[in-house]
Amino acid sequence: MTDFAKTKAMFHIPAGVIYLDGNSLGPLPKAAAARVNRTIEAEWGEMLITGWNKAGWMDMPRRVGDRIARLIGAEPGSVVLGDTLSIKVYQALASALEMTPGRRVILSDTGNFPSDLYMADGLVRTLGQGYALKTVAPEEVEANIDDTVAVLMLTEVDYRTGRRHDMQRLTARAHAAGALAVWDLAHSAGALPVDLAGCGADFAVGCTYKYLNSGPGGPAFIYVAPRHAEVARPALSGWLGHESPFAFDLGYRPGRGVDRMRVGTPPILQLAALDAAMDVWDGVTMEAIRARSIALTEQFIAGVEAACPALHLASPRDPVTRGSQVSFRHPEGYAIMQALIARGVIGDFRAPDILRFGFTPLYIGEAEVAGAIAILKDVMDNALWDRPEHKVRAKVT
Ligand SMILES: *Cc1c(COP(=O)(O)O)cnc(C)c1O
Repeated sequence: MTDFAKTKAMFHIPAGVIYLDGNSLGPLPKAAAARVNRTIEAEWGEMLITGWNKAGWMDMPRRVGDRIARLIGAEPGSVVLGDTLSIKVYQALASALEMTPGRRVILSDTGNFPSDLYMADGLVRTLGQGYALKTVAPEEVEANIDDTVAVLMLTEVDYRTGRRHDMQRLTARAHAAGALAVWDLAHSAGALPVDLAGCGADFAVGCTYKYLNSGPGGPAFIYVAPRHAEVARPALSGWLGHESPFAFDLGYRPGRGVDRMRVGTPPILQLAALDAAMDVWDGVTMEAIRARSIALTEQFIAGVEAACPALHLASPRDPVTRGSQVSFRHPEGYAIMQALIARGVIGDFRAPDILRFGFTPLYIGEAEVAGAIAILKDVMDNALWDRPEHKVRAKVT
């Protein structure tokens, strides 16, 4: 049995805060602070450069990758950490395109996170030769999988609305059409059960600073299906993806398996924070997370719709087709969110009009959901958002 009282006690949540933004930046696992401190003082401080061997720093991207593999249904040894998600999107796409010669289209959807589309666009420009990125509405993806498509590139859960693609079905459709499937799990890993091996996904990528709580700027992960791992050629052929980095050969030879997706020196302090954050998942099943996440999002939707008729649900009503977030629309969404944050309810705003709330059962329960609904009702009933200070746009929304 997953014990959510126990997991909640493992996080530092500031007093007076209801944190509904773990889908953007997970809160601090208490053990992470101590662990990073130990890595700094006992490892970096005392071992200096010998820490790469003595403290096992060089193996961390794969070792911690295996801890994530369990949560996303990936085979052991198929996940490696490093760089940012945008970089990992580029790597997965570039390798997948090279494996589907003769085809030129990357198919994605207009609900995808812009950075994924920007990276695809940049890659297509570099490649030339008629490569193109095609984006269609999320509902139109399946009908557009044809024999021109080289790679289907989708984010399973839409960052704005929480709409969820059917990964199993779309991967099978892509394969039937002769294409490969690259999945972005930014809003899936740690949020809901994922079965990469069972779906036959070819590549997957995701971040660790959202539902996996690794802290700001934590490294991203990349999954390469074992059947492709010795075939996929890395586009970003850095020395740590080389078969033998310390041979300092002038010619590049890709490393074994998913190790070839490593690029440069791994961020050890961030990996230490992530490793400690992964301890929270020991004894937690994704099935238990999903059941509770659905209960919390259902409670929130019912409560907000009853209390705040001016807000319109932007997320799918059917929980099966929804991730672990709930979004509402309102033309004054930005100011409403600032008024909420000023009262300790932290969600975020996504242009043009979306108020976004993430539900992470590891530290959010019914009491927090009820509290957030009551404060939102107060903000709406009394127009507490209608003040100049809530309308000034900050750099990060
Ligand atoms: C959060 C997110 C990103 C962010 O990419 P970074 O390179 O880590 O800044 C990219 N894609 C998706 C789908 C995201 O949700």
